[in-house]
Amino acid sequence: MVRKENISIIEKKERQKGNGFIALIVSILLISIILLLVVGFKLRGYSLGWSIAGILLFYIVVLSFLFEPKTIRETIKTIVETIEKPIRVPFVKTIEKPVIKIKEVEKPIFIEPKKKKEFNYVASTETKTYHENDCRFSKLIKKNYKLMDDEEVYFKRLKYTPCKSCIKKIIVKKGKHKKSKK
Ligand SMILES: [Zn+2]
Repeated sequence: MVRKENISIIEKKERQKGNGFIALIVSILLISIILLLVVGFKLRGYSLGWSIAGILLFYIVVLSFLFEPKTIRETIKTIVETIEKPIRVPFVKTIEKPVIKIKEVEKPIFIEPKKKKEFNYVASTETKTYHENDCRFSKLIKKNYKLMDDEEVYFKRLKYTPCKSCIKKIIVKKGKHKKSKK
């Protein structure tokens, strides 16, 4: 809070009210004195004249005092108080927002291949024919009739007939081609 004082002085000349009433009383008093001198003391001639002159002089002096305008000094004191009033200023809140960057890194995961035991030869107990495992006919063999083995001899002993599509070809190409498994 800041406090400031301003003092300003104003001078005024003013006739005081109520003095007229005093003057009236004084004049009545003086007149009654004159009357007293004339009637009571029976003053006549010069003595009366001097008396009246003295009284009038006194009266003039009294009046000059009564009606002299008085200087009134007005002191105006102005106090200015400055009060700091808080003003609500919207508060801006800054939130740090993390930016998440996703970086893809290739991580090798070794998935073990399903180890399904695959035999070299598949035969059908129904048709008594055996095939190469990857022969298209071997795929047609119903589960119930499937007979599998790694050795061709196994089926030969059972007197199974080799498939004309796959086995025979290999026999023909034997020596040149070695069966490759995929
Ligand atoms: Zn076959």
